[in-house]
Amino acid sequence: MTNPMQKNVVVVGGGLAGLSAACALSDAGYRVQLLERRPYVGGRASSYEHPGTGEVIDNCQHVLIGRCTNLIDLYARLGVPNAIRWYNQFTFVEPGGRESVLRSTGLPAPMHSSLSFLAAKCFTVADKIAIARGLLAFVWGLPPDSGENFGAWLTRHGQTHGAIERFWKPVLVSALNEDPERISVHYAAKVFRESFLSSARAGEMGIPSIPLSELYGHAIDYITARGGEVRLRTSVESIACSGTENRWRVLSADETFDADAVVLALPFEGMARLLPQMPDAPGKETLGAKLAAFEHSPITGIHLWFDREITPLEHAVLLDSPVQWLFNKSALQPEHRASGEHYIELVVSASRALVPMQRQEIVDLAVAELGRFFPAMREATLVKAAVVKEVRATYSVRPGLDAVRPGAESPWPRMVLAGDWTATGWPATMEGAVRSGYQAAEAVTAIFGARRRIRVEDLPHGGLMKLTPA
Ligand SMILES: Cc1cc2nc3c(=O)[nH]c(=O)nc-3n(C[C@H](O)[C@H](O)[C@H](O)COP(=O)(O)OP(=O)(O)OC[C@H]3O[C@@H](n4cnc5c(N)ncnc54)[C@H](O)[C@@H]3O)c2cc1C
Repeated sequence: MTNPMQKNVVVVGGGLAGLSAACALSDAGYRVQLLERRPYVGGRASSYEHPGTGEVIDNCQHVLIGRCTNLIDLYARLGVPNAIRWYNQFTFVEPGGRESVLRSTGLPAPMHSSLSFLAAKCFTVADKIAIARGLLAFVWGLPPDSGENFGAWLTRHGQTHGAIERFWKPVLVSALNEDPERISVHYAAKVFRESFLSSARAGEMGIPSIPLSELYGHAIDYITARGGEVRLRTSVESIACSGTENRWRVLSADETFDADAVVLALPFEGMARLLPQMPDAPGKETLGAKLAAFEHSPITGIHLWFDREITPLEHAVLLDSPVQWLFNKSALQPEHRASGEHYIELVVSASRALVPMQRQEIVDLAVAELGRFFPAMREATLVKAAVVKEVRATYSVRPGLDAVRPGAESPWPRMVLAGDWTATGWPATMEGAVRSGYQAAEAVTAIFGARRRIRVEDLPHGGLMKLTPA
């Protein structure tokens, strides 16, 4: 068996996939060098000082659910589990301000939210019957990816207009950042089974109470404390073989990093960009063809600061509105309370309609929409605003996409792939990224004959769901 301490692993990319691979490998005794092109880690889950407002903002509100066991494991490694606040209820607000709350009670899964669901005023009786019928289809397991899209599935299962517009879409579009017509039934079913059926704990929503870069910046200390190194502002431009030594040379514009193994933890478009600069190998062209099958979907975050509180709700789904979710950042992140201003972030997923719009148009739309929900908006004055359009936020989990998602193995020996786009069984999420990072770290340990299990177990189902397949 190889002593991992003698092995140098270069991880390319400091998003959650790269960070989790680097942390796990550092912990297993490898000497890790993590190379990140930006001046901070966290990738698509990061925060920065917004130049227009002078405020530290997240690139977008990020949430997780209790079912994200590998991400929660990463938080435990980094010593930040207390930086996540957990919620067991979701508030759906209708225009005019009427609220319906879905919350879990002591009833056994899958009925744990059923009492509040039956009481919810935002759904008609016909909507409730349709939703219950739809959810029942997922109790016994997840349908395979048949090529059908979830929009077609909703029609085929006789879902009412209200059920689609007020339940299926708001949950799904925000969870998978895509319209139902472009989502695989398998992944849609996974969202609903895990959020609403599996157990009360699985469906709890976690929200970070500190900025994302602070949260994930702890990984730098973790890696360096174990003898590794994190190099920011280091963009990898090519990778070459290192003669007969069985090692890799990872090249940035002005430096070379020698490695016994490499983890490529890039987003899919970054991997496609690097591909022509990689050594020829059987399977390289096939990987290129697979990468070409991925498509981006945008998310827009609208950050608004008012001179007074417009709602005490900490988060809410805004029904029948183009702005889908509200996060009360003043309530969620203590550091935003001090100014006296009231900071709200609105998140619009699959925001193709907003991408061509001017910043001011988007701000005006958002303020007008809030006015339809919260009476306090009549007196409130907007102090400042920021609009963050992430046009390459996530990839669409279209029907059939799983067939082209590669695992950790790459076309090159001693080189492994990670990233939310690789085959993890999860869509483009923080959990998917961390799973991929742990999976890549496992593959590295296997290369050196010291295979380790790093991914953690899934959360078991609760209540009567224990009688159903995992
Ligand atoms: C607006 C928005 C909202 C989201 N909301 C949620 C949410 O609520 N919940 C959730 O679970 N997920 C959410 N996601 C998805 C989640 O952020 C991503 O799935 C996850 O962070 C992807 O991590 P990754 O490591 O795979 O990729 P990335 O985060 O893209 O990391 C790749 C890293 O590689 C670096 N890189 C690229 N090229 C090079 C190079 N040549 N050399 C060196 N470094 C390079 C990049 O700078 C980047 O840091 C959201 C994403 C966005 C954008």
